[in-house]
Amino acid sequence: MKSVAQAIEAIPTDEENAGQLTEAEGWWATQLVIPRTIYWGLHASCLLALWVGVSTGDFLLFAATFLGRMFFITGAYHRYFAHKTYKTSRAFQFVLAFFGATATQKGPLWWASHHRTHHKYADVPGKDTHSPMDGFFWSHQGWIFDRRFDGTDIDNIRDFASYPELVWLNKWHILAPISLAVFCYAVGGFSGLLWGFAISTVALWHATYSINSLAHKFGTRRYDTRDTSRNNWALALLTLGEGWHNNHHHYCASARQGFMWWEVDVTYYVLRAFQAVGLIWDVREPPAHILKGTGAVRETQKAA
Ligand SMILES: [Zn+2]
Ligand SMILES: [Zn+2]
Repeated sequence: MKSVAQAIEAIPTDEENAGQLTEAEGWWATQLVIPRTIYWGLHASCLLALWVGVSTGDFLLFAATFLGRMFFITGAYHRYFAHKTYKTSRAFQFVLAFFGATATQKGPLWWASHHRTHHKYADVPGKDTHSPMDGFFWSHQGWIFDRRFDGTDIDNIRDFASYPELVWLNKWHILAPISLAVFCYAVGGFSGLLWGFAISTVALWHATYSINSLAHKFGTRRYDTRDTSRNNWALALLTLGEGWHNNHHHYCASARQGFMWWEVDVTYYVLRAFQAVGLIWDVREPPAHILKGTGAVRETQKAA
């Protein structure tokens, strides 16, 4: 049995992966062929819906797996592992990590580490992992298939890399989506697998990735942040609250991203429900000066 330190050591860093980088870029790129094939193959499989059709049960399974996994990406991978906006037990932390991994966006340490880099260098060309300044489609999905970003930069996520169960899940993340696929097949047969896993996963990918691409392009800016982040109500509804992305870039330590009462943030409501039953605690809110600062920023922008 390997120690945690050895397991962490075995994970290649971004720098080590960079050594394997080839010159190839674009659709014909040869990097990460297997993930690319799975990614586009799952897209192509959605066409099977034309033959299979959709039943009420299929649609309900689609809705449950899309919304459920969206919550775990936003409420767990993003607001917990990347930003530590609340506290929880070690057991529930693993539950959050496992269900987050069912979203088929790799492991929790990989996801959160790259996201921290996004905030650290937001929209600095060549430094931000996925800025639209480096190309719209790059920010949406291109960066995922670049070998430089295939590994987990453990230095960026040492706080959670001290848990061996998370290091294990980060390596074997594929087991989570496979479990979900088997569950969907058991519940709904082939059409259940198609709607509950394939179509739901593709929809979930693009909804999640739209925060890295569209939410840095379209929407309004309440806060004069150094990046291109926007608040976009349509994306906020689609992603259960992540569309209030300018709020989030301005103050990312808050579990709540909809700062105004009318900024619907379903993930935050669910987190409050988890808090009410004792599953999580110390849920962080935007401080008063951040909320009060709104008017001042607007006035500054008007005067400029
Ligand atoms: Zn962003
Ligand atoms: Zn963030």
